[in-house]
Amino acid sequence: MRPAQIHLQIILLLLVICQPALAEWYTREEAKMGTLVEVQFWIDEPEDAADLLDASMAEFDRIEALMSTYISTSEMSRVNAKAAEVPQQVSAELFDLLQQALELSATSDGAFDISYDSVGYLYDFRKRQRPDPMEIAAHLSAVDYHNVVLDESDQTVSFTRPGVRINLGGIAKGYSVEQVIKLLRSAGVKHALATAGGDTRILGDRRNKPWIVGIRDPDDSEAIFTRLALTDEAVSTSGDYERFFIEDGKRYHHIISPADGKPVEGVRSVTVIGPNATMTDGLSTSVFVLGPQPGIELIDSLPGYEAIIIVGDGSWFYSTGLSPD
Ligand code: ADP
Ligand code: MG
Repeated sequence: MRPAQIHLQIILLLLVICQPALAEWYTREEAKMGTLVEVQFWIDEPEDAADLLDASMAEFDRIEALMSTYISTSEMSRVNAKAAEVPQQVSAELFDLLQQALELSATSDGAFDISYDSVGYLYDFRKRQRPDPMEIAAHLSAVDYHNVVLDESDQTVSFTRPGVRINLGGIAKGYSVEQVIKLLRSAGVKHALATAGGDTRILGDRRNKPWIVGIRDPDDSEAIFTRLALTDEAVSTSGDYERFFIEDGKRYHHIISPADGKPVEGVRSVTVIGPNATMTDGLSTSVFVLGPQPGIELIDSLPGYEAIIIVGDGSWFYSTGLSPD
């Protein structure tokens, strides 16, 4: 090879090495919060991508460490252990989310109730365990969101009586995807998706096309009931197929009616779309408990929110904004 050719080859090689990495999609999926979480984003400065993927996953971990009832050191576990005896001071973040949860209880006429766990903890879906009617009766009076008292001035939570347990499982995953998208947005990201189980928050579009989110058939995890084309929106699905067992032909699942302490019957899945994932998550659980007619009425009363409800016989209901004229 002549020196000039070697020169040219070196220059070409340097060009290849020094070329900035191309903007592209980055994705990471991990098992967290008792489910799969996923983040996807498009970024123009790919050298930041690895840090942003790490930061997104760390945000899920941070929220789980704060709010999980399965983590004995969480603020939430401390509240459950002590708030019936002494008011418990909590972080502003947990206080705010508890406040949102209690507001949703009022809006949903008590269908959404984080104190469901006063009975809910007696179910173990993996071990196929459920409380018998006597046990439910013994714990049911603790289920009432009025038993959870927040004091804004000193940021404390207290329970009005012993036996109360609270659990943010119906809202925390939506909150976490909302937070992850906030983090990505403040880093300059314009196109992203964050998912935790059935809760997804979308930022922007999928670069000149909408994001496509499927609603699955409640009876077949491979089959799609319908697809939604979404931009800059949150979508949450609550289903009776997420955590359940079947005994004597009856399905025992993880969405509990605060009225009787039993898994809600009739509805199979509820999908709620709207601007905020904390709300879509809490609302999908609320509508599941309320059932089709009051559920649709609730959604129709909230500007920007829509719902699709699938019931036991396979028929479905849409909120007014999604209904054909
Ligand atoms: P997931 O995304 O886990 O399927 P959902 O949004 O459908 O969650 O909510 C189900 C979870 O909500 C349950 O696992 C439980 O932690 C909690 N939950 C159950 N019943 C209620 C209720 N009536 N009010 C508030 N939260 C509830
Ligand atoms: Mg929910």
